Amino acid sequence: MPARTGQQFVEGLRKQPRDVWIAGGRVDDVVTHPAFQNVVRSIAALYDLQHDPARRDEMTYVSPSSGERVGLSFLPPRTRDDLVRVRRMMKIWSDYSGGMLGRSPDYLNRAVMAFAAAADYCGENDPRFAQNVRRYYDLVRERDLCLTHTLINPQANRSVGPAGQPDPQLAASVVRESDRGIVITGARMLATLPISDEIMVFPSTLLRGQDEDRPYAFAFAIPCGTPGLRFLCRETFDPTGTAFDYPLSSRFEEMDAVVIFDDVLVPWERVFLRGDVERANKAFSATGAVAHMAHQVVTKNIAKTEFILGLASLMVDAIAIEQFQHVQGKIAEIIYYLEAMKAFARASEADAAIDRWGVMTPAWPPLDAARNMFTWMYPRMIEILQLLGASGMMARPTKADLDSELRPLIDKYFQAARMPAAERIRLFRLAWDVALSSFGTRQVIYERFFFGDPVRMQMATFGSYDRQPCVDRVREFLAREAEAEEAPATTPASKG
Ligand SMILES: Cc1cc2nc3c(=O)[nH]c(=O)nc-3n(C[C@H](O)[C@H](O)[C@H](O)COP(=O)(O)OP(=O)(O)OC[C@H]3O[C@@H](n4cnc5c(N)ncnc54)[C@H](O)[C@@H]3O)c2cc1C
Repeated sequence: MPARTGQQFVEGLRKQPRDVWIAGGRVDDVVTHPAFQNVVRSIAALYDLQHDPARRDEMTYVSPSSGERVGLSFLPPRTRDDLVRVRRMMKIWSDYSGGMLGRSPDYLNRAVMAFAAAADYCGENDPRFAQNVRRYYDLVRERDLCLTHTLINPQANRSVGPAGQPDPQLAASVVRESDRGIVITGARMLATLPISDEIMVFPSTLLRGQDEDRPYAFAFAIPCGTPGLRFLCRETFDPTGTAFDYPLSSRFEEMDAVVIFDDVLVPWERVFLRGDVERANKAFSATGAVAHMAHQVVTKNIAKTEFILGLASLMVDAIAIEQFQHVQGKIAEIIYYLEAMKAFARASEADAAIDRWGVMTPAWPPLDAARNMFTWMYPRMIEILQLLGASGMMARPTKADLDSELRPLIDKYFQAARMPAAERIRLFRLAWDVALSSFGTRQVIYERFFFGDPVRMQMATFGSYDRQPCVDRVREFLAREAEAEEAPATTPASKG
């Protein structure tokens, strides 16, 4: 099957009922439910972009198995040019939402691609698993499935691992296995985009013990409608209002859900890792998946920063504050963040190398810097929008106000130096949705945490970055100074 259209994505959701709960009720149909219908449309629009005849070569490539054109984010890169090509495709998807749809399907497409290329890693756990992961990648690519994933165990008590919790089945674990597969009970914290077709339940939280943590060490993927699988969503941030009033919330509310497994049977052909704590702990780094996912992340960061730069520039221009030095400084700051992200992306491609699985893998250090620095750059950009917009962020009547008898007053009192009132309100409502609404605030915590806890990510950088050449250089410098000090002073010959 070739790359899907939006309509085919929507039909896929309709065909697969799932157990999704929100605000105390079970959702009958995610396609029509007010909390999900708009984001379903947005994801469908991404799939439709694959069918724009002008973009065919940018968005798709020819499948090696079916000969059909499939999504380019499934491409296993063999050259640096392939990486650039994939980034350009991912940028088109990211630009569609100004980077606000963090979980466009390319994010996890990069992960399944990398896991399949490194299938032997899973095969070392059990030879069947290598075949499983390869077949799964083929399935996802050929059917153009949309994936969500869940990695983190429930937060209950972070001072102990999953086996140390008062109830050992708090965290999802293997409770039984049979010739049909493994059976999972317990919960995982947070899967964004529960309107996906399938869920990857992969390892991430570092498991500490060996024997007691074995039931928690696994990787598998199943359809979101699998019996016993339940998604408990937070309340929606989509007020289902007009796009004028809620330009982002009404389009890109991805939703986050806690995932609860109640005796869920995972057939053996969907199991990729099982009971191997060490292999589970290293899965994302050893397969290269983390680098390919981070390549998507830096692309999204570029799109998001460009969007914020454009937005801030329009705000500055609208209310004529460009002459103030601190305003120029704040815009310059966003430009530096943007240029840093672009440089990280390019450096990761320029320094890419073929990994042990034969895949051209983007260099990790620049991507590691990008993912960590964005955790504070993004909140700072939101602060800048608030500082530039000031009370204008509050002076933003709704579409209903504009359509009311108050319109003449609104036209007069809400005008901006270089924009009529309606245009200024549309712009500042967008700024509010980025910087202040529930949707915007969720974007901030998303950027702080979605790729992991920044504290532990920094600890990982500290532990893994090769600082030795820098240390040696300073040692040499100090030795040179010490040598100079110890050398006998040359005294000028005395006159007799
Ligand atoms: C909006 C949003 C969407 C997300 N979507 C997904 C998703 O789709 N799929 C998915 O798998 N995950 C998702 N996540 C989860 C994300 O991966 C985690 O938030 C992240 O890994 C941090 O884990 P935690 O939230 O459990 O924080 P915790 O581990 O509970 O940390 C809480 C606090 O304790 C500190 N802390 C805890 N343990 C340690 C330690 N050992 N050393 C030092 N400090 C520690 C942390 O620094 C932090 O300040 C999402 C998160 C957010 C916020």
